[in-house]
Amino acid sequence: MPLPPACLSAQRCIDEFVRGGGDADLIAATLDGLLELDETQLGPAEAAAELAARHIADCPHCRPWHDARDPVRAAWRARTARYCCAAMFEAVNEPRARPTFSFALFRNEDPCWRIDGQWSFARYCPWCGKLLPERAFEPGSAGD
Ligand SMILES: [Zn+2]
Ligand SMILES: [Zn+2]
Repeated sequence: MPLPPACLSAQRCIDEFVRGGGDADLIAATLDGLLELDETQLGPAEAAAELAARHIADCPHCRPWHDARDPVRAAWRARTARYCCAAMFEAVNEPRARPTFSFALFRNEDPCWRIDGQWSFARYCPWCGKLLPERAFEPGSAGD
């Protein structure tokens, strides 16, 4: 199945930006949805590349292109995709995050989310508002 024209032009835009000596790290971070840039501070080439990167970050058709371009982060993206949002991924996996979230069984039976190590019985993600699962986001992870 051919890619939609918007995908082809977004991918071409990124390729040309990086080939032309553009900031590849900035684009990689934008592709992973880590950066919210102030568009008024970007030149026209950066602004166009950033727009293209945002398209690719959210577009299922562009996923194979993105993964092939950046296989190391592909594994990381597959992990983060299991979480309700990037903030929760941080809270579970980054020990210095505040607050931290971890999953445990209260009295070895009731599924419970701990916040900063305290039993909280939180039911919803405080960042994205989604219902929390009654298990860890990743089996065998730090949140398990
Ligand atoms: Zn696309
Ligand atoms: Zn969330």
